[in-house]
Amino acid sequence: MDVDDDYYCDDYYCDDYYDDDISDGESYGDEEWTANDDEPHQLVADKRNRYVVLTEQQIRHRLGQEAAATAEVFSVPVDWALALLRHYRWDPPRLEEDWFSDQDRVRDAVGLGGDPGREGEEEDDEEETNLICGICMEGDKPAAEMASAGCAHRYCHACWRGYVAAAAAEDGGGRGLVALRCPDASCSRAVLRGMVERFFFADADIDGRDAYERALERDYVEARGLWMKPCPAAGCGCAIEIPIEGDGSGADLVCRCGHGFCWRCGGEPHWPASCAAAVGWAGEADAASAEWVLVHTKPCPRCRRPIEHGGGCRALRCADPCGLWFCWRCLGSIDETGWLAHDSCAEVRSPAAATEEELRRAAETLGAFLRYQDLWAANRRAQQLAEHEARLLGLRAGDKVDKGEVVAEAWEEVAEGRRVLGNACAQGQSMVRRRGGASARRRWELFEYQHGETDAVLDRLQQCAQEAATTAAEERELDRLLAVLAQQISVTRCCVDSFARAVEDLHGMPERD
Ligand SMILES: [Zn+2]
Ligand SMILES: [Zn+2]
Ligand SMILES: [Zn+2]
Ligand SMILES: [Zn+2]
Ligand SMILES: [Zn+2]
Ligand SMILES: [Zn+2]
Repeated sequence: MDVDDDYYCDDYYCDDYYDDDISDGESYGDEEWTANDDEPHQLVADKRNRYVVLTEQQIRHRLGQEAAATAEVFSVPVDWALALLRHYRWDPPRLEEDWFSDQDRVRDAVGLGGDPGREGEEEDDEEETNLICGICMEGDKPAAEMASAGCAHRYCHACWRGYVAAAAAEDGGGRGLVALRCPDASCSRAVLRGMVERFFFADADIDGRDAYERALERDYVEARGLWMKPCPAAGCGCAIEIPIEGDGSGADLVCRCGHGFCWRCGGEPHWPASCAAAVGWAGEADAASAEWVLVHTKPCPRCRRPIEHGGGCRALRCADPCGLWFCWRCLGSIDETGWLAHDSCAEVRSPAAATEEELRRAAETLGAFLRYQDLWAANRRAQQLAEHEARLLGLRAGDKVDKGEVVAEAWEEVAEGRRVLGNACAQGQSMVRRRGGASARRRWELFEYQHGETDAVLDRLQQCAQEAATTAAEERELDRLLAVLAQQISVTRCCVDSFARAVEDLHGMPERD
């Protein structure tokens, strides 16, 4: 078996292909990482939520190691190992069990031949000419211009290039490349990495190797979906790995590229609000504007355009081209009946479609939304301010070391608390919108109470931090202030954590009880 030709560059995967300093993933909670990072807000989240960001190179390294190990155990080329592992969803124990109990069956399923290393080679028999390509049907090709995936189906190089390029262009980011089979419909022979790269390389300026490796990495990460996910940012090849015993709770993650996302839904970070509440919150502005129309406007009796009564006289004129004069109270036309008839007309409160109950509910959810929207915005501003303060402290030299550190920690805690309170607004609004019975109401009231308490605790911590930062107190008084501040930090952390857990407990609560 000759695995040392151009297509089986095993060196590509061997350890010293990479710089020595690549570890198997860097934990974002590590001290050395925190020392030279200027975005302290990421760290606060990570004190509560440990996860690892893997770069593309680290993923490649890992899957390369697995492929190399499999190749060695089975005595097959690395390309074979890649095809086998991919077929077995990167589960080496399951693959080994099947392979050693019935190797032929596994080879058939994966599309491997009996003789490794023969794929893509030109016919040895140089005398053989007048071959016909099975795709373009052009005959009279010399053997040197024909290639097969190791089976009996030979095609010309131009057709191979077209075949590989078409697979690469399919949806799914190169997924077609790693799953490629012989072009012959009746043949299931796998087209291995070496073949793909050879004919992809030859084409234009696309790096075939890179396209193939990226598709493999994606496949590898997706197979580990329970504890590993690709970063959803466009163009970022990183993946996030959570501890195997974790369930992704506290599920906001920040990738190395700076993109933050929710572990569960992949959307914008929204913890501790549930994914469903976050989706609802995103559509809340539209719903609220519909409710605003319902609550604050009445339709023109002629053209049905929603019209707001700005206060004052009950006689309103609809805008052009309608131009109807009508009475806001009874929605009757004034042009037809004259103004006197409306002295004591009956109130028509809402458009015919909306019942009084609907109107009341619309007013309630609209009011809640406007309030939560303000709360959300205020918490975002407070979070950004706190992050800014923490960053400044990280840079400022000359302060007493203790003081700078403790105050920066306080600001980080404020930022984290504000983030949690802001995100929780989505959960509050979803509770208002879903309504429900008496116990749902009690849960919402408890949520409101805890939200308010946490807000007050954060205010206190912020005051303490400002006091400690600006004080001109001498040694002993300063020590006392810092001790109070440290105490306040841990009280706040407890409070924010228990609020967040309480919000998490609301996820998936029954709609009506
Ligand atoms: Zn051809
Ligand atoms: Zn074939
Ligand atoms: Zn990323
Ligand atoms: Zn989510
Ligand atoms: Zn009108
Ligand atoms: Zn009227």
